[in-house]
Amino acid sequence: MANLVTNVQSSVEANPDDPAVVYEDHEFSYGELWEQTGQFAAALRENGAEPGDRVALYLPNLPQLVAAFHGALRAGCVVVPMNPQYKSREISHLLEDSGAETVVALADVVPFVEEVRDETNVETVVTVGGEADAGTPFREFLTEGDDSVAERADDDVAVQPYTSGTTGQPKGVQLTHRNLASNARQSMDIVPDGLQPSDRKIGVLPLFHIYGMTVGMNAALFAGATFYPLPKWDAQEALSLVEDAELTLFDAVPAMYNDIINQPNAESFDLSSLRQCTVGGSGIPIEVLRAFEDLYPVRIDEGYGLTETSPVTHFNSPNWGRRVGSIGKPLEGVDARIVTEDFETVAPVEEGPVDEDEVDMDEVTGELVVSGPNVMKGYLGLPEANRKAFTEADGKRWFHTGDLGYHDEDGYFYVVDRKKHMINTAGYNVYPREVEELLFEHEAVADAAVVGIEDDRRGETVKAFVVKTPDADVTADEIREYCLSNLAEYKHPREVEFVEELPRTTTGKVQKYELADE
Ligand code: ATP
Repeated sequence: MANLVTNVQSSVEANPDDPAVVYEDHEFSYGELWEQTGQFAAALRENGAEPGDRVALYLPNLPQLVAAFHGALRAGCVVVPMNPQYKSREISHLLEDSGAETVVALADVVPFVEEVRDETNVETVVTVGGEADAGTPFREFLTEGDDSVAERADDDVAVQPYTSGTTGQPKGVQLTHRNLASNARQSMDIVPDGLQPSDRKIGVLPLFHIYGMTVGMNAALFAGATFYPLPKWDAQEALSLVEDAELTLFDAVPAMYNDIINQPNAESFDLSSLRQCTVGGSGIPIEVLRAFEDLYPVRIDEGYGLTETSPVTHFNSPNWGRRVGSIGKPLEGVDARIVTEDFETVAPVEEGPVDEDEVDMDEVTGELVVSGPNVMKGYLGLPEANRKAFTEADGKRWFHTGDLGYHDEDGYFYVVDRKKHMINTAGYNVYPREVEELLFEHEAVADAAVVGIEDDRRGETVKAFVVKTPDADVTADEIREYCLSNLAEYKHPREVEFVEELPRTTTGKVQKYELADE
């Protein structure tokens, strides 16, 4: 059972005629998906690919991605997912570093592969969708398959995503068959009554990112449910799909929920078929969560994780109840601690969330570290980064998340912010998230991000970037005054700038380094 893909095989054997993937008018049963993955695996082998070889997938969310992903695993290859929005500059490091010889790419982006081909080991480009100058079309690449599944050990690498590289070169995250299988299985358990074959799950999160890959695609396919990939985020399209196909499960990042509640016709959609929404990737502002839950009869359950942890480590599971504002409790088998710089354990607070104005946050917070079957093997070929990422203690290997937080006596964890986002202004620590939460409560604010800007006198100064709601009539001074009357003076943004939109990554995270550089 070591190869991750045997989890899909179990669903195929149980219900071969059930729908596995639905995209527009196309429906692929489990039997058909299995056949295609076998054909892709056979084609890779025919092409000389061996177990352990890297296969890069440079695709948006399409059924071909699902088939190529599991087909590559069946051949024993390692999947290297790449953001389909990347251009040649961005993919060249990924292809070089991973040594991928095969790339499956959407026709539109094949030219970017061609541009960097000489610097890499790429030999075969398989194109998806339409004509392209180079490469073999996906269907023509497929060849007659068989039932075989390559043997793999639990600790063999299955997927190697790359970090986004906001602070240096992207790092190859080596996730093993065990890492990914354990996390997908746990993602099935955090659904009320467990993820069922009758469930229909949306696939709006990009599949090159670990959240969409594990919690979305793999959990759905391992449970024998139906997965509905959507190649690009469009709130109207997603809401219509939920209504028309009566989807039962919805996974999204906070920016998507914020987008939904700001749709002028949000109320007109009937989402009563949904039985759970999940959120993660960044903290969801409480105002956004409440507004969504006021509109629709479904709960948003928040979780937390990172690419390096396959991804989920914490969740507000219905199994133990949710606390709004918390990332929940660690999943079974995952250990989590809050530690000081010297790796001393920080004691829990009595009950969270704490009032940040009443508690000395420096006393109760520390870095969140985790250990468990979902924690990566390590970064590829980066001993120094691995040394920094892990601490051995009490017989366990702890991964440093880089996030600051605290926990309470009931076992609920709270992320205050990323360590690197914390602002130090005239000696005071300001957690941007606290200021952002307040901004979201203002009726004229549709979106907001707070960063530290270099300042000669204070070291850093707090600055807010704000997107106004349509027709809002508010000035920067009024926003400043509003923050000043609700926060300690040192926390309020001395600068407020209105912008049309915030720069975000494909996974909905605000690119704070871009704002801070302005
Ligand atoms: P990089 O690590 O390369 O900068 P990234 O931020 O896109 O890239 P991910 O692995 O996608 O990397 O994100 C993990 C981070 O997302 C966590 O360390 C944490 O800061 C943030 N995060 C995820 N879920 C939550 C949550 N529920 N609340 C707050 N932060 C979260």
